[in-house]
Amino acid sequence: MIYTSTRDAHKALSASEAILKGISDDGGLFVPSSFPTLSAEDIDELISMSYPERAAKIISLYLDDFDYEELLEYCEKAYERFDGDPCPVVKVEDGLYMLELWHGPTCAFKDMALTLLPYLLTAAKRNLGIEDKTLILTATSGDTGKAALEGFKDVDGTEVIVFYPSKGVSETQRLQMVTQEGDNVHVAAIKGNFDDAQTAVKDAFNDDELKAELAALGYGMSSANSINLGRLVPQIAYYISAYCDLADSGEIEVGDKVNFAVPTGNFGNVLAGYYAYKMGLPVGKFIIASNANNVLTDFFNTGEYDINRDFFKTASPSMDILISSNLERLIYEATGRDDALVRELYGKLKTEGKFELAPETVRADVFEAGWADEEETKDAINTFFDLDDYVMDTHTAVAASVYNDYSCDTEDDTPTVILSTASPFKFAPDVFYALGGHEKDPYKAIAKLQSVTALECPDSLSELFTADEIHNTVIDRSSVKEAVLRFAEGKLK
Ligand SMILES: *Cc1c(COP(=O)(O)O)cnc(C)c1O
Repeated sequence: MIYTSTRDAHKALSASEAILKGISDDGGLFVPSSFPTLSAEDIDELISMSYPERAAKIISLYLDDFDYEELLEYCEKAYERFDGDPCPVVKVEDGLYMLELWHGPTCAFKDMALTLLPYLLTAAKRNLGIEDKTLILTATSGDTGKAALEGFKDVDGTEVIVFYPSKGVSETQRLQMVTQEGDNVHVAAIKGNFDDAQTAVKDAFNDDELKAELAALGYGMSSANSINLGRLVPQIAYYISAYCDLADSGEIEVGDKVNFAVPTGNFGNVLAGYYAYKMGLPVGKFIIASNANNVLTDFFNTGEYDINRDFFKTASPSMDILISSNLERLIYEATGRDDALVRELYGKLKTEGKFELAPETVRADVFEAGWADEEETKDAINTFFDLDDYVMDTHTAVAASVYNDYSCDTEDDTPTVILSTASPFKFAPDVFYALGGHEKDPYKAIAKLQSVTALECPDSLSELFTADEIHNTVIDRSSVKEAVLRFAEGKLK
């Protein structure tokens, strides 16, 4: 399989090269030159497999320069870190299911890919005969950072640096990052929001001077953000696996269509679903759910992508994003792989903060988009707890709310899977508030949420509140490059 860039279709890289580079020199993202196909027979075959087996099979179709047996071993090791089934499908009502992606070490869906990425990256280096150390640069809206730190901690030949927006993450998310142990982990707060952090990190990737200075120190750079192909590909697997589980339990027949409702920020999760669909997975609709930062809702409904708007801090901080990176990969596909057009649109985004496409170009029948405000998100948590005895976090609730609107408006009764992206305990104060309580302190909110719901909080979260805060660096967004260098030189812990 050849990987090319969304901004230059002449580029041709192997999967190993694409994973190691993270982002293309031209600023574009790596995309497969074609999609592997998935037949009904393939699905039948996957149904009898365990999750690590399913994942290894699906991933091997994309990472074809990796050894299959090795991939299987990596998947087994990565998903061993999860508590039980890595991604169970839970029935909440007839025809409505939750795909719970948060049983990993950091209690959010980022673990599905970030427990595996270090193995993929290490193997990619081996495949290419590269002996440089790798500096993993990551911008986080809250959950990626911790998952990257957990995934890469003490992995030989890597240093991981995480930048998070100083005021943009929840207290629990902040604690998860600043208490992180490990010899190769670095964390800094950036004064600004997630978009500032993400843009600064992307600029660092395209900074030739920085690259040269890091090379002199023996480092290459890569990314743990969802722009990295090694994040995207493992996420394709759980869409297909959910479908297999529904077929296995008799909820659907192989060949039936399923809808997926996805809480969306950087468009990485839903894009992985779209790739599964391009492979042949029978999908009716992807319901793209945003919070008040509803730039994607507007884009899918009008064709205009415009980030010149107010930025809102919401109870679903991992979706507080205006520059949705992975949308670029969808636009590449939707425009018939027109790299010149993608280049033009993203040039406009940089200079004017907006671009426009014909709405029918992007919708392609398979996308519906909507958004939920804070009140609606809260209502969804409350209603699902009342009616279905199901407790969900604030991000999942955005999708549940948008799904409710969609199903009322359309009466579409296609079986629907909501992607449940975080443990409710990770956002305990807001979830508890939605259920009618008041407790701003996350530690106390966890205890109260446990008693109201009779659920158990994962230890990895409850233990945070007694751990030492190790990382206290705060920088201006203009100092990212300097901070990267100082981390690499070992002058900044
Ligand atoms: C990252 C994240 C999202 C958004 O996923 P994208 O791939 O950025 O669209 C949603 N919910 C949670 C809990 C997250 O951590």
